[in-house]
Amino acid sequence: MSAFNPYAPPAADTLDSGRQWGESDDRGGLWRERFLLVMDKTATLPVDRCIVCDAPATGRPLRRKLSWHSPWWYLLVLFNLLVYVIAAMIVRRKVDLRVGLCDTHRSRRRWWIALAWSLVLAAIGLLSFGMTARLADGTMAALMGLAVVGFLTAGIIGIYAVRVVTAKQIDDRYAWIGGVSSQLLDTLPDWPGPKYHG
Ligand SMILES: [Zn+2]
Repeated sequence: MSAFNPYAPPAADTLDSGRQWGESDDRGGLWRERFLLVMDKTATLPVDRCIVCDAPATGRPLRRKLSWHSPWWYLLVLFNLLVYVIAAMIVRRKVDLRVGLCDTHRSRRRWWIALAWSLVLAAIGLLSFGMTARLADGTMAALMGLAVVGFLTAGIIGIYAVRVVTAKQIDDRYAWIGGVSSQLLDTLPDWPGPKYHG
């Protein structure tokens, strides 16, 4: 029975099962659940189209390392910020993605990054000016307030505008991704597994 059979199908198709996810036009390992994309963490996203608007992608795919943990862990912040940070480092789940971007969304993202860094620099400038100049208390407080607003705005831009796609939930095997174009979602089969509750 072990004689070589030239008509047998190639064994590599079944042996190398991880390989099928790497083929660019194979949508295996990708599903939709309403407005979210569900993916096997070993699957790859199509990078020939913009992940945001489905226009043809240009340039190199953007690498996004996303992490997620159950929102319940945020309760630790009330207890101790450092304890929360350590716990979050331990319990967070990660997914490493490559997404396609069109010219418009690539340059929009660059502008947001530039704006966020400008705000950080401006806030640092205000703080250092406030610390060196002789100012009335009221002026000093106003400068500090402006600097804090600058830092916070830069942080919000960093969270919402720069990340392109977001992880809504990640478990050991699958990731729920938000921010994906409805055109891509429409091409995917419905997620058959447990539903996302967020
Ligand atoms: Zn786009």
